[in-house]
Amino acid sequence: KGRVLMIGAGGVATVCAFKIVQNQDVFKELMIASRRKEKCDKLVADIHAKGYKMDIQTAGVDADDVEQLKELLGSYQPDLVINLALPYQDLTIMEACLACGCNYLDTANYEPKDEAHFEYSWQWAYKDKFEKAGLTAILGCGFDPGVSQAYTAYAAKHHFDEIHYLDIVDCNAGNHHKAFATNFNPEINIREITQKGLYYEDGEWIETEPLAVHKDLTYPNIGPRDSYLMHHEELESLVKNYPTIKRARFWMTFGKPYLTYLDCIQNLGMSRIDKVEYEAELADGSGKSVKVNIVPLQFLKAVLPNPQDLGENYEGETSIGCRIRGMKDGKERTYYIYNNCKHQDAYKETGMQGVSYTTGVPAMAGAMMFLKGLWSKPGVWNVEDFDPDPFLEVVGAQGLPWHEKFDVDLEL
Ligand code: NDP
Repeated sequence: KGRVLMIGAGGVATVCAFKIVQNQDVFKELMIASRRKEKCDKLVADIHAKGYKMDIQTAGVDADDVEQLKELLGSYQPDLVINLALPYQDLTIMEACLACGCNYLDTANYEPKDEAHFEYSWQWAYKDKFEKAGLTAILGCGFDPGVSQAYTAYAAKHHFDEIHYLDIVDCNAGNHHKAFATNFNPEINIREITQKGLYYEDGEWIETEPLAVHKDLTYPNIGPRDSYLMHHEELESLVKNYPTIKRARFWMTFGKPYLTYLDCIQNLGMSRIDKVEYEAELADGSGKSVKVNIVPLQFLKAVLPNPQDLGENYEGETSIGCRIRGMKDGKERTYYIYNNCKHQDAYKETGMQGVSYTTGVPAMAGAMMFLKGLWSKPGVWNVEDFDPDPFLEVVGAQGLPWHEKFDVDLEL
């Protein structure tokens, strides 16, 4: 085992590829395939320019098209497909994996293009099929989702008899010196943060208006930052897997200017994900125009800074972790486990900023867990379904070490 096909050649995929070539004792063969083959070739050239040696194949593929995927997977026959394209492609890639006998890993839950909806039901529905085929699918193996669940599993394994309150806290205290930019794919990011908030309490899901609930939380080495309650997909699997949880929430920091821009974008209708008819000029130079349908948010993505280009001037750091209250040996305990990642360190190593880095490293680590046989069991699984110890060890050694605080004021 050791042949991997990575789909996507964006920010997260770039980091993951750098980490794969740094671990060739496990990763023996690599192919990078994405919508545009030239982007994959550029990534391979960047990797070689940094002095890494590995023979990497590249291919162009439309991952919305199951038949194209089947052809690619059928001819390359990878042991594992790492899906680092967009959440829209999760199901087509899972279908192709089933058809070609390949295992699967991704970093974000499936989303239909025409509906911003964050839940695992579509992918969990594949559980039987993967089980019957004897194939492993690992869902959401980035930082959050991903490491956030491994942190929770680690806390449950080593420090708690029962977890009662879980707050996942995600702070980006970086400054990229742009008026407005998103840290990962703008379309996916803006869909995520403009949805209603959702959290779990006493067996029920409680909805809030988008970004309506917020408070100052203090992040290590950073200080207080206004943090907003949001829905995040990993809460869904965590409350299922840890039924002692009474309340589970997810918080993310946003600066005031960012939120003002976001407000404008929404008020202008630019965050819409439905089709709008638009009269556009043909690109053939004829001067003729034609009626086309455009999705405003996709058009906005085309004019916003590319998250992959933010790295060079990005200062500051991220801090992501889990704040947990629960019981150990009959006593209440509080616990905070987190990682801080400096954007400049990520940039120096991979040319990408910290948000891509914190996602790409765990994706590689999850793939490594599968290839080593440590995270391999037929079915469709979330990260907390596996042993967190070897995973966190690799994630830590590969650039994202974790820190723990006991009996601290959780502020929540
Ligand atoms: P990018 O937009 O930078 O990269 C996406 C890549 O997928 C691009 O190379 C793109 O090609 C390619 N792609 C898009 N559509 C297709 C298609 N139909 N067929 C083949 N390739 C396609 O995104 P990021 O790298 O920022 O994010 C990648 C994934 O990681 C996303 O799913 C995102 O949600 C997830 N993520 C997860 C996080 C976590 O902590 N769990 C955090 C951050 C991101 P092209 O460049 O040609 O458009």
